[in-house]
Amino acid sequence: MSVLENITSEDAIALEEKYGAHNYHPLPVVLSKGDGVYVWDVEGNRYFDFLSAYSAVNQGHCHPKIVNAMVKQAQTLTLTSRAFYNDMLGKYEKYVTETFHFDKLLPMNTGAEAVETALKICRKWAYEIKGIPENEAQIIVCENNFHGRTTTIISFSNDPVARKNFGPYTAGFIKIEYDNLKALEQALTTNNNVAGFLVEPIQGEAGVYVPSPGYLSTAKALCEKHNVLFIADEVQTGIARTGRLLATCGNCGCVDKHCSGTPETKPDILILGKALSGGAYPVSAVLANDTIMEVIRPGNHGSTFGGNPVAAAVGMAALEVVKDEKLAQNAFDLGELFRKELNDFIPTCDLVKSVRGKGLLNAILINDTETSSTAWDICMALKDNGLLAKPTHGNIIRFAPPLVMNKEQLLECVAIIKKTLEEFKK
Ligand SMILES: *Cc1c(COP(=O)(O)O)cnc(C)c1O
Repeated sequence: MSVLENITSEDAIALEEKYGAHNYHPLPVVLSKGDGVYVWDVEGNRYFDFLSAYSAVNQGHCHPKIVNAMVKQAQTLTLTSRAFYNDMLGKYEKYVTETFHFDKLLPMNTGAEAVETALKICRKWAYEIKGIPENEAQIIVCENNFHGRTTTIISFSNDPVARKNFGPYTAGFIKIEYDNLKALEQALTTNNNVAGFLVEPIQGEAGVYVPSPGYLSTAKALCEKHNVLFIADEVQTGIARTGRLLATCGNCGCVDKHCSGTPETKPDILILGKALSGGAYPVSAVLANDTIMEVIRPGNHGSTFGGNPVAAAVGMAALEVVKDEKLAQNAFDLGELFRKELNDFIPTCDLVKSVRGKGLLNAILINDTETSSTAWDICMALKDNGLLAKPTHGNIIRFAPPLVMNKEQLLECVAIIKKTLEEFKK
């Protein structure tokens, strides 16, 4: 078989099975093309993408503006390393920091690297500015968090599958219940050496858990009171996914019309990834103001590819698309519609307990045990009906389409979901 020949789904799956490490369990569909809200498999079947690569493809597949920026830059200059300056990075840093209202940005590639970077900045700030004794800094994290796959990050995960037999684990983390302000206050008052609180504004991988109203702003206020950095991991929730530019934004509900983009619960350290490139390229970033970011000096941290010219060009184009096409507003409106449609339907369907989410980051809770295969089987049936989604944890199915979807397409998807669930009842 020539590597350039078209292959069948069966062959593609067999190749991965034989030659690839088995670190994922994909739905059996082999995709070969994407455009906007759609993807196509190698047999030419079209699907609505309701995962969007875990919210990396908020701007839709192969957005022409992002692709053109990438191609143009790739034909000009791809990588210099940070040993030299390049003519794109500064422009990109200015654009992103102005968009999110921070003084400075540190560029990385993947979400996990950006989380690691935030943890390092937080620790260094703790020793040099806050005055915590060396090697004593603690960072508070939440139960059922997902922040990536590195050895330090899985050290404070409580998912046994992600964690077991990868020890010894990195020390210096305190785990508390998510959406529990009392637990946060207790952790802040009973430990002297707390440097930061790392939190997802909505727990995506855990099953789209939306915290109680006021949780983030009160958590931020508690952190401020105890001189502890509030670190928001918006790798999944950021860049318009939840109906706002950032999920830590204020409650105006409308980034485009009323909100300057200044988050109400402004994090001390903001972590972005995924849709920062519209899914075209690995681009992540950590943002903070000078008093925090200035603890990082030459040699303290780095990445060969971080801040490369292609990433900078792609990142700027991807954010421009979010603004030009008012994707935050669209995600807000379509999210309201999606939950209304499903809430009207759920009482007629024994199979689904509830729908929850914000903007276009939603999930349905299947009325079965966490270890049942029902959610997986429903996703297989959705696939056969032209919509791709994946269970997060056992009995929860996340629904996160590209934000460039229109109302007609969303209603078509709702119809597919209802039809699939109805067929499933029989
Ligand atoms: C996906 C994700 C990460 C990790 O990003 P990678 O690019 O896969 O390393 C970190 N935090 C959150 C909240 C995520 O959703």
